[in-house]
Amino acid sequence: MKRAIISDVHGNLEALQAVLEDIDKQNVDSLYCLGDTVGYGPNPCECVKIVRDRCSMVLLGNHDQGALFDPDGFNVGAEKAIRWTRSQLEQHDRMSKHSANMLADFLGELPRTHADGDAMFVHGSARRPLDEYVFPEDIYNPLKMEHVFELIGRYCFQGHTHIPGIFTPSPEFLSPNVPQGSDECHAALPPSTKAMINVGSVGQPRDGDPRACYVILEDDQTVRFRRIEYPLEVTRRKIHQISDLDNFLGDRLVQGR
Ligand code: ZN
Repeated sequence: MKRAIISDVHGNLEALQAVLEDIDKQNVDSLYCLGDTVGYGPNPCECVKIVRDRCSMVLLGNHDQGALFDPDGFNVGAEKAIRWTRSQLEQHDRMSKHSANMLADFLGELPRTHADGDAMFVHGSARRPLDEYVFPEDIYNPLKMEHVFELIGRYCFQGHTHIPGIFTPSPEFLSPNVPQGSDECHAALPPSTKAMINVGSVGQPRDGDPRACYVILEDDQTVRFRRIEYPLEVTRRKIHQISDLDNFLGDRLVQGR
């Protein structure tokens, strides 16, 4: 059983297309998306349509929710991007002839959690599925880690921080380093303990590696963190051309920060 898990596409069409092209070569049985399909990036509608058509399970992220309802808790640049994103979705839905194509309806009906056997899937954390961050430095906050791990049966797959890696209850954070020239890093899931697996971000990586990131889960035993090059200068230029999107949102793609 092979499952591809993507997250945090953030309206980056070029990154999403490159990742899907790679997934198509991996013979996966299913494709899951852990939310934040929109926000920050220049192609929210295109990305929602692709995710809707390609993924068998899609979760709601905090940016998706912000684009549908009142954005709350975002910084100025992110909120501006969310309002622009909302206008794009509304414009699309106004022009759409078939009610089945309404993107806001699709996003509005997404669940916040999903469970499959031993694994649960969230955008943020098991404790607050929509918007709690679990950062690598949280291993120095054992109380938080303990509380979050208590809510997990075995494995929890999540996104939100845009920093890929595996947390164990010790607590420890294992960072998957995929060297340039190589496209993946294997990690065996700990056989006898719980684990939280952050699948990284397709459209806005923030671990210093600008390549798009996603995960392949094999037989619930091994995760492969894949890093995929995409034409990020195209995305960056598009962002620069949209006045409601801060140039910084494009520039940070180059740094992976
Ligand atoms: Zn995100």
